[in-house]
Amino acid sequence: MIFAPQKIHNAHLEQQLVICWRDGQEHRFSYGELRAACRCATCRAEQVRGHLVLRDADLKIKKINNLGQGLQFVFSDGHERGVYPWQYMYELGSRPL
Ligand SMILES: [Zn+2]
Repeated sequence: MIFAPQKIHNAHLEQQLVICWRDGQEHRFSYGELRAACRCATCRAEQVRGHLVLRDADLKIKKINNLGQGLQFVFSDGHERGVYPWQYMYELGSRPL
């Protein structure tokens, strides 16, 4: 599987999630970026309306669940409905900043 991660690291101090992929790429995601990229039905609707703006500097990822085909995060704002498939994470990480 191309998009399988080799290592997942929750860098609390930098408030970043680090994923090392099997192809040698390393992607860093800020917690806010991940929260904003949530693809659950609720967040997608907010994104379409341009409402999902997150500026919570204290946002944290409390828990990371590895679902096998992707990740599910439990954010400190209570949101935990989003599932992030590997390919989606890879594309997110490859996006120019
Ligand atoms: Zn969501």
